[in-house]
Amino acid sequence: MFGASGRHRMNDEILRNMIGQFLAQADSEAVFTWQGGEPTLMGLGFFRRAVELQKRFGRGLTVGNAFQTNGLLLDSRWTDFFREYRFLVGLSIDGPSHVHDRYRRDSGGQGTFSRVADSAGLLLDSGVDVNALAVVNDYSAQFPEEIYGFFKDMGLVHMQFTPCVEILAGSEDVPAPFSVGPEDYGRFLCVLFDLWLEDFRNGLPTTSIRLFESLLFAFAGMEPPQCTLARTCGDYVVVEHNGEVYSCDFFVTPRWRLGNLMTGDLSGMFNSPLQREFGERKAALPSPCRECPWLPYCRGGCPKDRIRLEGNERIDHLCEGTRMFLDHAGAKMEKLVRESLQRRQGEDAGVRQSRQVPAGHAHTHLHPPAGMTTSAGEGPGRKPGRNDPCPCGSGLKYKKCCGR
Ligand code: SF4
Ligand code: SF4
Repeated sequence: MFGASGRHRMNDEILRNMIGQFLAQADSEAVFTWQGGEPTLMGLGFFRRAVELQKRFGRGLTVGNAFQTNGLLLDSRWTDFFREYRFLVGLSIDGPSHVHDRYRRDSGGQGTFSRVADSAGLLLDSGVDVNALAVVNDYSAQFPEEIYGFFKDMGLVHMQFTPCVEILAGSEDVPAPFSVGPEDYGRFLCVLFDLWLEDFRNGLPTTSIRLFESLLFAFAGMEPPQCTLARTCGDYVVVEHNGEVYSCDFFVTPRWRLGNLMTGDLSGMFNSPLQREFGERKAALPSPCRECPWLPYCRGGCPKDRIRLEGNERIDHLCEGTRMFLDHAGAKMEKLVRESLQRRQGEDAGVRQSRQVPAGHAHTHLHPPAGMTTSAGEGPGRKPGRNDPCPCGSGLKYKKCCGR
């Protein structure tokens, strides 16, 4: 979109305008997600300035920052900064060295695993909140046990797995060879789910896998935090270095350009007919999805991945894998939600009797709000507030848990 050459850096005027406009339209809380390219290339001074501007324009709002990095430039100055301002850091790490280095190499062709692993250690030792961001590609999909065990051993217990679905250059619907195949993806998720479930203790998860936790929201009748599982898109926008605003980072194209924040109003772009149209595209489903029993949970997948031609409709490349996984895990997810609801009702009764919550019972798993159903016919509904108890049952606030 911006060409392969040249450096694309956001200048101070655009940074100030972006933060000012975004915070001006926020209600009580606002979250900035910084991603590149590689955001550390902007230097620490840029982010110190961003925090300074957030304080200036914050009006008492709660402001959160998430930061996605390959970890190669991190040092103690960065980790001190992240800890001080409570940045949530997403570290791109695909698994152990043979998995990570398969595709993540530096400009000299060397694998980057050892440097990224050092950064993971530095972040964890410094007390920074870290998510492992792992891509599931044609190779890594073969190693779910090894990858899960590796992250656990590293102390990276918050994990996010993103399927790699890329189209071969010059084609409309042929997946690139490094993309994960649907069956491999389905098998990967099934194994991962069983490992996650085996690690539950006293009804509580001991590791966090974003997709599974998001799905639990959907099974509990709530709006899942992961956009790919939501009925529509359009909950966030992307601001590029030059102030250009787009509907989604996967759709930085002229078709979905909302405007430029140096000449337009960001709030107006959020609420524009074009952004609504973008959001509703996800809900315009191909016929296999409309007849699918898993629709209330899958929602047809991310529109970017709808590349497989069936008749004259395009369906999610990963569809078969998603079906395989939900056939495997759906009933167990429903059971988790049901058990949590029963536990909560028991606790509520206990609270009414004793008027005091015993310390050992303060954390329960999965808290779907009373009155919500888990039936497949009901679509996910209310989105939890950031200060609400997290529906995954961790006992933490939503913003500290699945809403991170
Ligand atoms: S297009 Fe995909 S990534 Fe973008 S908002 Fe929609 S579901 Fe999310
Ligand atoms: S599993 Fe397949 S058919 Fe069912 S909703 Fe998802 S993409 Fe559509």
